[in-house]
Amino acid sequence: MEAKMELKELIALEQVGKSYQQPNGQQIPILENISLKLNTGEIVALLGPSGSGKSTLMRIIAGLIAPTSGQVLYRNRPMLGLNPGVAIIFQAFALYPWLTVLENVELGLKALGAEVISRRAKALKMIDIIGLDGFENAYPKELSGGMRQRVGFARALAVEPELLCMDEPFSALDVLTAENLRFELLDLWIERRIPTKAILIVTHGIEEAVILADRIIVLGRNPGRIRADLPVTLNHYRDRKSPEFQALVDQVYKILTNPEFEPVKAAPVQILQPPQPLKYQSLPQVRVGSIAGLLELLEDRQEKDLYKLGQDLQLEVDDILPIVEGAKLMGLVTLTEGDINLPPLGLEFIAGNVDERKQIVQNQLLANIPLIQQIRLLLQAKRNQRLPEELILDILESHFSPNEAQRQLATAIDWGRYAELYSYDEPAGIIFLEQNVEVNQETSIADSQSSL
Ligand code: ADP
Ligand code: MG
Repeated sequence: MEAKMELKELIALEQVGKSYQQPNGQQIPILENISLKLNTGEIVALLGPSGSGKSTLMRIIAGLIAPTSGQVLYRNRPMLGLNPGVAIIFQAFALYPWLTVLENVELGLKALGAEVISRRAKALKMIDIIGLDGFENAYPKELSGGMRQRVGFARALAVEPELLCMDEPFSALDVLTAENLRFELLDLWIERRIPTKAILIVTHGIEEAVILADRIIVLGRNPGRIRADLPVTLNHYRDRKSPEFQALVDQVYKILTNPEFEPVKAAPVQILQPPQPLKYQSLPQVRVGSIAGLLELLEDRQEKDLYKLGQDLQLEVDDILPIVEGAKLMGLVTLTEGDINLPPLGLEFIAGNVDERKQIVQNQLLANIPLIQQIRLLLQAKRNQRLPEELILDILESHFSPNEAQRQLATAIDWGRYAELYSYDEPAGIIFLEQNVEVNQETSIADSQSSL
């Protein structure tokens, strides 16, 4: 039976924001206005698409990095620097290859300055608890991935952290090992064999969150912010097949797949920042070919429920979401409450031949994607109709991190090329207009220009 601990506030984040400064001085917001409390007795899952700032948020909670704005309170006191009550488990645990399992587990205790004898005793106890008995003197290279991750768990738990933070701790493991370790962790927690008071797990797996967590916090992207904070009241151990479980998975899926565009937020006072000229959407990293594939599948399978469709096709939410997002940006699908539908334009696309499809995408891109409009405008403004990609990257880097800017550019180039809006000379890094490319909708560019 589950004995519930009394809920007490362990960590509170108050309007925490994090941004990184670009070489040009521009601040890129990664997390925005995050207010959240972690209580004792809870397993909390931080769920969100990749790039939504989950790892960053976890590192802020652990005190590995400081927020740019707002504050973190630990037991009601502002937290400065590394939080001694926290231990972290990462996806692929960095074990020291020249140290044995026992020595690796002892490391964390050494850092705490524990005496040699108590250190050894605690490490051995944790090795036992975590199922590494008999492997004390093995070296990491002798262990399977699952066993190595166990060493990571043992090392983190040996210090008896109040808060255990885990960043996608099961995602590098095969399915069975992951499930096994998940339930073992749950055993330790439920049976109170570890003194840990709260667990924070970062994940992009909806089912993993619903299996483990008492609360699921859903983050959205660009910048990362809380989109939902859902309690999970099902008793452990949860049955993935039960209707309650499925309903919750569905609900989270709906939140994740809901349109991300929200009314312009009331920005906190940021006097130092120049006004941002144009808000680019965040383009998902998908090729038009994948979008076409999705549309065809939708028509073939007549399955409207996105979650079921993903399951049927064995697609992870991280795989299917960007494709859906791309199709939505092009107006080829509509989404309502997790159901995906083909509007007339989507059906027209499916029925169309290559040229007709290109034309549809061309119209849609020019009407809906400011970045692509902008590239066209810049190209047309130049006599030689050629643009170095750096120019676009520079513009993008005032909206996105350098890596994200690269990804955004790659997508804009892929989509624009497909629609024959421009061409790209990859070795030279030049975007250019083909000589006799006709575009029908130049007026729509002019229209949207006035609102830039
Ligand atoms: P997640 O864990 O949800 O995938 P991360 O927290 O790793 O997301 O990253 C969120 C965003 O912050 C990403 O766009 C990433 O490129 C950016 N980012 C993370 N760390 C840095 C950094 N040190 N400098 C600049 N950008 C960063
Ligand atoms: Mg991460």
